[in-house]
Amino acid sequence: MFKKTKIICTVGPASAKKETIKKMYQLGMNGVRINTAYGTIPQYQSTIEAVREVAEIPIILDLKGPEVRLKAKAPKVIMANDVFEVGFEAEEVCFNHNFYDQVTVGDSILIDNGKIKTKIVEKGNRKLSLQAITGGKIEDGKGVNIPNKHLSVSTLNKKDIEVVTFAKKQDVEYAALSFTRCAADVEELSKKHKFQGGIIAKIENSEGVQNAPEILEAANGIMVARGDLGVEIEPEKVPLVQKSLIKQCNQRGKLVITATEMLESMIYQPNPTRAEVSDVANAILDGSDAVMLSGETAIGQYPVEAVDMMARIAHETESAVKSKVEATHYINISDTVSKAIQEICESMPLDKVITLTKTGYTARMIARFKIAQPIIAVTPDPTVKKQLELVFGVKPFLMNYLSEKDDISAVANRLCEVHLLGERETVLFTAGEHTTVKHASNAIEIHNMEELRKFSCSA
Ligand code: PGA
Ligand code: MN
Repeated sequence: MFKKTKIICTVGPASAKKETIKKMYQLGMNGVRINTAYGTIPQYQSTIEAVREVAEIPIILDLKGPEVRLKAKAPKVIMANDVFEVGFEAEEVCFNHNFYDQVTVGDSILIDNGKIKTKIVEKGNRKLSLQAITGGKIEDGKGVNIPNKHLSVSTLNKKDIEVVTFAKKQDVEYAALSFTRCAADVEELSKKHKFQGGIIAKIENSEGVQNAPEILEAANGIMVARGDLGVEIEPEKVPLVQKSLIKQCNQRGKLVITATEMLESMIYQPNPTRAEVSDVANAILDGSDAVMLSGETAIGQYPVEAVDMMARIAHETESAVKSKVEATHYINISDTVSKAIQEICESMPLDKVITLTKTGYTARMIARFKIAQPIIAVTPDPTVKKQLELVFGVKPFLMNYLSEKDDISAVANRLCEVHLLGERETVLFTAGEHTTVKHASNAIEIHNMEELRKFSCSA
């Protein structure tokens, strides 16, 4: 059975082998995230090659952007009340971004997903003295949060820029931008660095949540990055923020991914907790296009089992998902036609919806209504085809229909040949006919396949 909910797996040391990638794909993985907080470019390259040998699914290179992390030459155990120094250059323990002038004594600094809580007790010599409120272990690469501070650190760090250059060479389908604060952060990647793939803005602090409407316009989609979000704003605020962000994306037909700690206990155990299962199901019911595995597949002991579990939750839950799109003023033809398609889908027996889509826009606009029928998105663009793999309810298919005289018949015949359409199915087709205007799927045709094929053979 066709799975509508898309699953993204972070590939890391626990899953980088081609056999593991293949198993995860067979069980329902639709996309791969590479977290560039860890590893090197040659490692990303070999992961990309392995994924591309296994399947036609998109790669998301996750850039760290304005994310603050610790650099530590050696691990260090901190006890409550300990005072320790952190610098900004190349000290034993230092931060990866320089924000010395933007913090003051008394500010709180959280380390390792908020596990180590500290306060700045002294500033001097371009170093901070931090006093621990709760202890823990300081290690290289641990995340740092400075809640409610709008730090003016650069959008992309030195490594990010190298990764973007690499991503462009590899034609990577998506880049994710950590700690996106505003639309300008997204534009830096698309305009200044000319990244042509899709851009997923990760919303992980209060600034990102506030500016979500403008960020959404600039980006192709967003990720509800609950790990950092739960430290930057209070964890109890995350569930409603998740619902609001997903709704905003659904309304605009933008991709939305819910991420982090979804099946966290499966890092160490073959079975998830009931609460985790509910969390995944609720993220799907909220309207996520995709749900993501992080540590579970990157460093966990049960990466394959985690994908299997997620796919099982998706199959069980997704038929109950309802559209939350609200009526709006006129936007464009595809928007209006997608609304009509939703009505048709609910008012007659219909097996499938086929959209002939160059950019993928109409496919996403239909998908946001969470219709019961599978949506087959036929596109001539190989990158769009892979990008659409992450959209709820969409099965992308590559075909250069633009070269055919009667494109709808040609598409119907081709989809029958590859068994994506059955001989007796009733199918709705939508396409932009006699137009080259963007976002103008202006035609709806409803056919019984047997009839259509009889007609197209005798014509
Ligand atoms: P990360 O982002 O895994 O790159 O930290 C996701 C999150 O914070 O939830
Ligand atoms: Mn994060």
